[in-house]
Order: sequence, then C-alpha cells, then structure tokens
Amino acid sequence: MYHHSIYDHANNVPSYWEDTASHLRSYDKPLQAVTTCDVAIIGGGFTGLSAALTLANDFSLDARVVEAGDIGWGASGRNGGFACLAATKLSIDAMVKKFGKQATQEFYKSQVGGIEFTRNLIQENHIDADICGNGNWDIAHKANRLSELKEYAEEITQLTGIKSRLFGKSDLPHSAHQSPEQFGGVFLESGFALHPLKFALGLAETAKAAGATLYPKSKVIELEKNNKGQHVLKTKHGTLIAKHLLIAANGFMPENLHKSLHGRIVPVISNILVTRPLSGEELAAQEWNTDSPLCNSRNLLFYYRKLPDNRLLFGARGDISGNERGSQKTRVWMERRFAEIFPAWATVEFDYFWRGLVCMTERMTPALGRLNEDPTFWYSYGYHANGVNTAPMSGHLMAKWIAGSNEGEQAIPAVMRGDPGKIPFPGLRKAYLQTAYWKYAFDDWR
Ligand SMILES: Cc1cc2nc3c(=O)[nH]c(=O)nc-3n(C[C@H](O)[C@H](O)[C@H](O)COP(=O)(O)OP(=O)(O)OC[C@H]3O[C@@H](n4cnc5c(N)ncnc54)[C@H](O)[C@@H]3O)c2cc1C
Repeated sequence: MYHHSIYDHANNVPSYWEDTASHLRSYDKPLQAVTTCDVAIIGGGFTGLSAALTLANDFSLDARVVEAGDIGWGASGRNGGFACLAATKLSIDAMVKKFGKQATQEFYKSQVGGIEFTRNLIQENHIDADICGNGNWDIAHKANRLSELKEYAEEITQLTGIKSRLFGKSDLPHSAHQSPEQFGGVFLESGFALHPLKFALGLAETAKAAGATLYPKSKVIELEKNNKGQHVLKTKHGTLIAKHLLIAANGFMPENLHKSLHGRIVPVISNILVTRPLSGEELAAQEWNTDSPLCNSRNLLFYYRKLPDNRLLFGARGDISGNERGSQKTRVWMERRFAEIFPAWATVEFDYFWRGLVCMTERMTPALGRLNEDPTFWYSYGYHANGVNTAPMSGHLMAKWIAGSNEGEQAIPAVMRGDPGKIPFPGLRKAYLQTAYWKYAFDDWR
C-alpha cells in the first residue's frame, strides 16, 4: 500500500532500539534447500516467535519461523514498548453496542491478561528487556477531556477490576509531568514499558532453545498447496513444506501470497522521535516524574515515555504516502508539536527518527482464526497499535489451537475471533485513512 522503502527487508530500520540491542542478534541461516516441518510461521515478530515457542516447548512440534528481514525486523523490533490497553479503535461504548457487555468485558480482561502474559514471558525466561514503570497514564490534552478520562477509567475498573487514580491539572506534575497540554489525567494501575527489540530477540533465543527453528532473510515469495494438502512456502533459496501454516505478519501482511489475505487490513504508519539524553535539570524543567508510559487523550494521540538513559521517546501517527518527502514532513510536524507540548525542551536535539506499520481491521479488533475452507491455514493480526500486550498472547493461544488444544480457541475473546471482514474497495484504503485523520483532527480540536 505504501512506498517501497517501507518494505525494505534487506536493511534494519536505524533506531534507538537497534543501536542498543542489535549486538544481541544471533544471525541464523536463511532457509535453504527443501525441508518439511509441522508448522510454518510467516513473520518473525512477537506473534510468530511466541507461537513457535509454545509449539516447540508445550507440544514438541517442529515449528519454523520464516522471516523476510532479520528477526524483529517488523513492528516488534521498532515499537514504543508500551504494554498497555487496548487493541481496538472502538470506544468502550461502541464495543458494547456492537458486541454486547459480556463480550466487551471478556476482551478487556484478556487485554489485561495480555499485559501480564508479556511480563511473565519476560520474567520466566530471564529476558533482559529493560522493563520500567508500573502502570500507564492517559493525559487530558484539553480541560474538557478530563471528565471523559475519568469515565473511561471507571469503566475499565468495572470491566477488569484494575484500579485507577484521577489527577487534576495541578496535582499531575507531582507524579507525571508538566505541559501546556496537560489538564490532569488518569493513572491505570496496569501496564509497563519495555525495550521491544531486546524482548523480541530474547523471545527468539528462548524459542530456539525450546527447539524451534528460525530462518531470517527468507522472504516467502510463493505459497501453494501440494497434492498431499501440505503448505509449500517458497523463498529465493529454499522451500518449506508444512502441515499447518500460521500467518503472523500483522501490518506487513504479504497480501499477494493468498487471496484470503487481500484487503483484510489497513496498515497505518506510526513514527517515533527520540531525543538525546536529558540532564536531571532538563527533566526537572518539565517536572518530569514518571517511568511509566503515557498517551494523551487525542484520537490522533501522542505517546511518550522516558527511556532508562533519560531520553524522551515521542510517537505519533505518520503520513499516508510512506515516501521520503512525506516522512520528512511528519518529522518537522512532530518536532514542532514536541516543542509545543514540552516548551522547556524546545531546543533539545533528536538523535533518532523512524517509522513502521501498525495494523487495523474493518471490525476494529484483532483477528485470530483459521480459514473455513482450509482448517490448516491460520492467522493472527490486527492489534491496533497494541501488540506488545496482544501479540505474544495471541501467538501463544494460536499455537495451542493449532496443536489441537481447545483451551487456545476458547481463550480467544469472541470480538477477536475469526475473519474481521474485507475492507470495502481496498484500493481506497488511503482515502479512508485521510478522511479518518481529518475527522479525528476535528474531534481532537473541539
Ligand atoms: C512505530 C510503532 C510504534 C508502536 N508502538 C507500540 C507500543 O508502544 N505498544 C504496543 O503494544 N504496540 C505498538 N506498536 C504495534 C506493535 O509493534 C505490533 O502490534 C506488534 O509488534 C505486531 O507483532 P507481529 O509479530 O504480529 O508483527 P511484526 O512484528 O510486524 O512482524 C511481522 C513480520 O512479518 C514479516 N513478513 C511479512 N511478509 C513476509 C513474507 N512474505 N515472508 C517472510 N516474512 C514476512 C515481516 O518482515 C515482519 O518482520 C507499534 C508499532 C509501530 C510500527
């Protein structure tokens, strides 16, 4: 859908995460020759790696991950590292209207479960992923948004039991930060932040130790079924034949490989800026007092957090072209907005700027399932920019389902199960996105 530079699997996107973790990457061999396995997984991010780990570890199945770039090349190696709620673009009210109260509650509980799943995966496997923070903040960007945030936090407490705390404009800086665009906020006592590439690479090593095989630099260019009903994945130098296939490519969905993948997602560009390390004095100038991740109350939200070496990570939605010009325009806009939100840091230099794709669906919820016409063809995608808590858990549940355990299927919330529907006239996806951005921008200004 976007400019070809977005899909340049030959190179890792230069980022703060790459600079601080690429030394942990072990370079496995690409797929070569013809080989068979139980489960082939397309995509070496959180979903694919977590699925491979469960298949190998819990079910002793031969699971192989085929990744076009290096492991963690996709969104998993370059996101903001926020483990927080929730993988949907629907408001709670809209979800209740669409799916009912019980299904909404089931979804939110599983989202909280996903946060704890990610934390446990890291702790149990001794992955050094620089976990920090003990909850997450939603900051009112206008005075009239605080009551909406209060209502949201109360609903979350009702649905999940998570406690929250409300802060007025003058109290907030003691626990979070100061800004002309803070009018109070809520702190949800669930969530944390991590180093996404360290997590992805640690997960890869854990999956390999359990018996899974990883093939980086192995783009699947053709997918077909043989006369035994097996999946045949062809790369430039090899062929993998498998009983089961799991598509774990989220926003980088290879739509050309199979008709069932065409037009199912809206990939959306998200961008991240990272400053140079800030001194204690500079942090104090914005009354910065939190290690937990923060989002503001905009639809087109800014997400930000302090990194362990006192840099500020600042993220926002991107452009709709994906070319160099569009990307540079976004950078200029983000730098201007950063200076407006944090005036004391208006002249602070940025060391990093990068981008990647998040993934939306027509249903506005994730999609985990298998094809009706081919029950060995599985998929898991559509995390709506909330994959840190949703993707590892989804990979795990899909693995259980693939391995024949009912538990996996039953634990998937109904709102996330099955085909999310095709986007009407997928060729118009960019136009839909532009229209949504205008509408959201108006709502945010109101
Ligand atoms: C800038 C940015 C910031 C984000 N911030 C957050 C955040 O703070 N918190 C949060 O929860 N989520 C965040 N997200 C979303 C989150 O990163 C994703 O939801 C999650 O990483 C998806 O994991 P995945 O394994 O499903 O997909 P990915 O990690 O994207 O992996 C998919 C992989 O499939 C591979 N692939 C595609 N086609 C082929 C093919 N033909 N052959 C072989 N391999 C193929 C790709 O190379 C890619 O590596 C962010 C995303 C971006 C881009």
